[in-house]
Amino acid sequence: MTANYDLVIRGGTVGSATGSFRADVAVKDGKVAALGIGLGEGTREIDATGKFVLPGGIDTHAHVEQVSAGGLLNADTFESATTSAAFGGNTTLISFAAQHRGLDLRKVVDDYAVLARRGALIDYAFHLIVANPDAKTIRQDLPALIGEGHASIKVFMTYDLIKVDDEPLLDLLLTARQHRALICVHAENHGMISWMGRKLVEKGYVAPKYHAISHPRGSEAEAFNRLITAAELLDQPIMIFHVSTAEGAQVIRDARGRGLKVFSETCPQYLFLTRHDLDKPGLEGAKWMCSPPPREQVDQDALWQALALGDIQTVSSDHAPYRFDETGKLSGGPNSTFKQIANGLPGLETRLPLLFDALVSQGRPEFAGRGLDAFVNLTATAPAEIYNLPGKGALLPGYDADIAIWDPAKQVTITDAAMHDLTGFTPFAGRSVTGWPEHVLVRGEDVVSGGALHAAPGSGRWLARTGGHAATPTGRLVADMDPQRNFGAALLD
Ligand SMILES: [Zn+2]
Repeated sequence: MTANYDLVIRGGTVGSATGSFRADVAVKDGKVAALGIGLGEGTREIDATGKFVLPGGIDTHAHVEQVSAGGLLNADTFESATTSAAFGGNTTLISFAAQHRGLDLRKVVDDYAVLARRGALIDYAFHLIVANPDAKTIRQDLPALIGEGHASIKVFMTYDLIKVDDEPLLDLLLTARQHRALICVHAENHGMISWMGRKLVEKGYVAPKYHAISHPRGSEAEAFNRLITAAELLDQPIMIFHVSTAEGAQVIRDARGRGLKVFSETCPQYLFLTRHDLDKPGLEGAKWMCSPPPREQVDQDALWQALALGDIQTVSSDHAPYRFDETGKLSGGPNSTFKQIANGLPGLETRLPLLFDALVSQGRPEFAGRGLDAFVNLTATAPAEIYNLPGKGALLPGYDADIAIWDPAKQVTITDAAMHDLTGFTPFAGRSVTGWPEHVLVRGEDVVSGGALHAAPGSGRWLARTGGHAATPTGRLVADMDPQRNFGAALLD
């Protein structure tokens, strides 16, 4: 008898954003062909008895093979980053084609695409970082690139070398509106951060732990408010990256309550770390330095609540790998102040196990017994919907067979040595988690199984994306922008 399918994963529990059920999963030509009990034969069969069969993770915020504004190359290549991501249960990531001041965006994206094509072994897309919003970028390159399938733009409201002020921010929001792209924002008040950093260093408070203080918590809520006000003026949907404070989550809740299209993410570092993690001898605390910094226990609680309520829709890693040596964190030498130390943590490989442990194994109370659904939704289904990745983020007939098979009972202690990225450390070392992704397939092909890598660099595919539903304006204009109420001024065309 000839096999009906290329692959059948038999006997597992299939997870989705809206419930889990016992089913076999059949794969043909790289796609999910059928779900059900007692499906016909596959050329290959995988026994998933006692396992969870879940959509592969989609990490929508990862800095890979990217040069920082300060000129530091991050530690990972596409090959190492996507290897690490795959070992952590991911099948898709979105990284950043980063324009710096003076650079041509078209050339930045073309050059970056070469690196990704060569190295990636899971599927990928890019956000376009715009730091040079000049006429060519705004009028020519962005419309063309969005049209080609790069339907999200990232803007920084802080960092000296890449920040975009209020007026060019409005230009970018309008461009995104006209060509239907999502605007993703690193939103913190630049003046407050730079003033605090200067004051702390002047007074001799230079250890890594002072980094946490140097981004005062109000700098987040202030920037969120300013950003949301600008987005409301143009009726342009936004995604607020890496929410870290309870007040920030509250600002987002209020905006969504007013019907604005404000999406947001948080990251494991804000759910599992606090500022006390930076309080280590010497420069050791640099390993826990990221921006915004980890906050307090009360913020963790507020962020879990915001995830459960849907105010925050995704959890990404914000993987930003700098080694703990002179090529990375310590490039300013052994006497660096916190202002001279690169901000960023690795996290591609630990994001899903940490969340699985908290949501599924420990059963965070905010999710009232629906932890597995929440896990799938926050890490795969919602990211695919918001960033418009058709055929990704769920195991449904016709969808890509991007699958992570989890052993929910496997206990693992996270260590630096077990990680597959090139950072050399993980801020989560020493933590024990229950549940681990043991077998990861992209479009039906093994990427990780039996603790080994099976995919070749370059096997990952670029995913062209249009703006989709999330990036579509609401159609409700504030009075200043509405020609029926502003003396006929048509400003949005
Ligand atoms: Zn980032």
